[in-house]
Amino acid sequence: LRMAIVAEPEGETRVSASPTTAERLRGLGYDVVVERGAGVASSFPDDAYGKAGATLVDTETAWASDIVLRITPPTKDDVGRLGDTATFVGMLSPALRPELLEWLATRSITALALDAVPRISRAQSMDVLSSMSNISGYRAVIEAANEFGRFFTGQVTAAGKVPPAKVLVAGAGVAGLAAIGAASSLGAVVRATDPRPEVADQVHSIGGEYLPVDVAVEQSTDGYAKATSEAYDRRAAEIYSEQAADVDVIITTALIPGRAAPRLVTAADVASMRPGSVIVDMAAAQGGNVEGSVAGERIVTPEGVTILGYTDLAGRLPAQASQLYGTNLFNLLALLTPGKDGRLVIDVDDIVQRAVTVVRDGAITWPPPPVQVS
Ligand code: NAD
Repeated sequence: LRMAIVAEPEGETRVSASPTTAERLRGLGYDVVVERGAGVASSFPDDAYGKAGATLVDTETAWASDIVLRITPPTKDDVGRLGDTATFVGMLSPALRPELLEWLATRSITALALDAVPRISRAQSMDVLSSMSNISGYRAVIEAANEFGRFFTGQVTAAGKVPPAKVLVAGAGVAGLAAIGAASSLGAVVRATDPRPEVADQVHSIGGEYLPVDVAVEQSTDGYAKATSEAYDRRAAEIYSEQAADVDVIITTALIPGRAAPRLVTAADVASMRPGSVIVDMAAAQGGNVEGSVAGERIVTPEGVTILGYTDLAGRLPAQASQLYGTNLFNLLALLTPGKDGRLVIDVDDIVQRAVTVVRDGAITWPPPPVQVS
């Protein structure tokens, strides 16, 4: 079958497959084509894809392929460009975009959502949410360091002693741990919160200090946080207030699946920070952990605190993000191409394949039956 790497829309710097990935996809037996210019924003020029054995084609030819790969979901017009029996593979946010599934299901199209990979050990190599969160957590620290007018590391120099910056990371999941690691490797003093006490060891192992909120939380059975109790939130709020007055940088990553992001840092906390302090609210697109953050925006408060609500943090490291996304994508497509013969076969009895298949031959197949996350 013909498989196309199509260009992303304006504003998306990543691409679904690097030249290395394109070559590996050819190894699965596919005839790989690339829309001209698709990789340019990720520093992958057209001729690099050509050297990898892919054919460069125009937009219409690319979209008319049997299998279309793109990170960004298709618009209604894009769906119209797909062939009648095409397969689209991308990040589709099926829970948030029911209308998109309806558009795709009007013909005999199949759609695979890479962001719907179940979060079980066996599927980790295909988990784009983890690979992108890891990059975003690192980049959040780089953005904060860029805004912060001081060193992260402490120094003793002939011109005087410089204390290390203090960084608070709220939420120690995939993104939070990446942020803790990056900030501590830059030499900052790093503290972290998370309602899942089991993360304490991971926080310590990468150089952070875990700040426990001494109020019992409902035990998570699936590895994810549950909404916290009022008593927990009250005690946590005291910790955030104490920390805001003390730290230079706050990075928030707290999410609860299926709900709006918990509000952790109040406007009063923000106002208590020293001028020049920086906050990165990585949950800005989900409603924000920080009062006053705006998705996609950089805001400076009257007190001189910068609040970044960037939602494209992974895309700010486009070459690496594309490489990792492409590897996740390749691993999924390798699973779906058992004969390495350029033919896509979906085994719906396999929970991973079932979970990513959100539209099958024109029928909406989302949500899948629940999977016990391990
Ligand atoms: P997430 O993006 O849903 O949440 C981010 C973090 O916010 C989590 O650590 C969560 O506990 C925390 N949080 C929620 N409410 C909070 C609050 N009120 N205050 C502070 N923090 C709060 O989670 P994630 O990063 O995608 O993953 C969480 C965990 O899931 C990981 O640590 C890992 O154990 C597991 N996981 C497993 C796999 C796999 O096995 N394939 C893949 C990804 C994640």
